[in-house]
Amino acid sequence: MIKIFTKKFHHLIIYSFFFISCVNNNTTEITDNTYEINSITDEIYNPKKTGRIIEAIYLDNKIKLLEIENNKYLFDGDIVLEREDFKLLNEKKDVNQSKKNLWPEKNIRWKFADSISSDLKEKWLVATRMWGTQLDFNFIEISEKKGDYILIKQNYNGSAYTTSIGKKGGEQIISIDPRYYGSGNIAHEIGHSIGLFHEQKKSDRDNFIKINYTNLKPNWVSPYEKSKTRTTTPFDYNSIMLYGSRASASVVYDSNTPIMTKKDGSIWNLQRAYLSTGDKEQIRAMYNEE
Ligand SMILES: [Zn+2]
Repeated sequence: MIKIFTKKFHHLIIYSFFFISCVNNNTTEITDNTYEINSITDEIYNPKKTGRIIEAIYLDNKIKLLEIENNKYLFDGDIVLEREDFKLLNEKKDVNQSKKNLWPEKNIRWKFADSISSDLKEKWLVATRMWGTQLDFNFIEISEKKGDYILIKQNYNGSAYTTSIGKKGGEQIISIDPRYYGSGNIAHEIGHSIGLFHEQKKSDRDNFIKINYTNLKPNWVSPYEKSKTRTTTPFDYNSIMLYGSRASASVVYDSNTPIMTKKDGSIWNLQRAYLSTGDKEQIRAMYNEE
């Protein structure tokens, strides 16, 4: 009896130590990335290692990508691409074009990865209802990984990201750390997954906002670059795809100074509670429901 108790107690110590180690590791990792804990925050992939910035063509757009770990490339803060997704400026190869990246019949097939918390599951379902009820997207849960689908994953490094703008073909991922991101942030990632870029990149944005480039760290210029492709629907301050006026300390030198302001110098708060009129107009235009 004493022996059994001792053995169990021994295991308990080991497990406790392991648990404490994990907690400490996570805390350290987040602190190292100067990640800020806010109730609502811009979606961001928290890379551990970054390399060169390279120019590429993605979905007919000329873009800048940041090399990150595991041969991945970060576009615009929260879109993680692989080498096969884009081409270099003078490279000749076929890649997915924007005309082919919409979900047919607005049917979005999806699956939870293994080991997803009930918290994240609930947040995902709330986010799908935002797009489903207002814009008639059909979110279809699948049991087998076949065809085109979104795999919903959980991460533990303060990231919220997706792996495609629009339908990638085959598997694409939305990965969320539910400790820091809510259903509104997931709705933002769904926005990317059905074809939306960030609102502040729209070609008409200079009529509405000013960007304070001097406050921006070099690796994070891309999300604030204006698209050269003419956008079909106007810029909207209430878009769920628009970043807030202020950005986190990983992105800017001074997080108290706004990175974006309205033309009159005033600021806005990040909006992740609903789909704006502009968001709906843009989706209807893209999916040809004028
Ligand atoms: Zn985003």
